[in-house]
Amino acid sequence: MAGVSAKDPCPCGSGYRYAKCCRRYHRGEEIPPDALRTMKSRYSAYAVADARYIMETTHRDNPDYGKDPLKWREEIERFCREESFESLHIVSFEDGEDEAFVTFIARLGSGTMREKSRFVEVGGRWLYIEAVDIGIQRGVNSSSL
Ligand SMILES: [Zn+2]
Repeated sequence: MAGVSAKDPCPCGSGYRYAKCCRRYHRGEEIPPDALRTMKSRYSAYAVADARYIMETTHRDNPDYGKDPLKWREEIERFCREESFESLHIVSFEDGEDEAFVTFIARLGSGTMREKSRFVEVGGRWLYIEAVDIGIQRGVNSSSL
């Protein structure tokens, strides 16, 4: 659990405690109602090293889906261990009926990344399909992106 407990602020930056925020999605008690909540809960899942949730909310058309699931899981877990997840800032959210885009800036230990992610809705769940635009600045942990 990478040091995040139920009473800690949720890593997604909502201001709520983890137990009152993304944990209920990670535990499968609730399904995020939209792509924005899905994106935020995926960021939190990285922060708490919940590889299962990352895999579950990834669309089959994402290139990672073709990988050996065990290998993929290990890759996610390694990334979670080696990286630190400092903050998430949502730049924009373009909602649609079955397709939505979330643009965000994530501050990580290794740098800052800005990504526009595409999500599609499948059977009532929003799934991450791909990054349509991505910018990474290694070692630059600033808001200059
Ligand atoms: Zn949260």
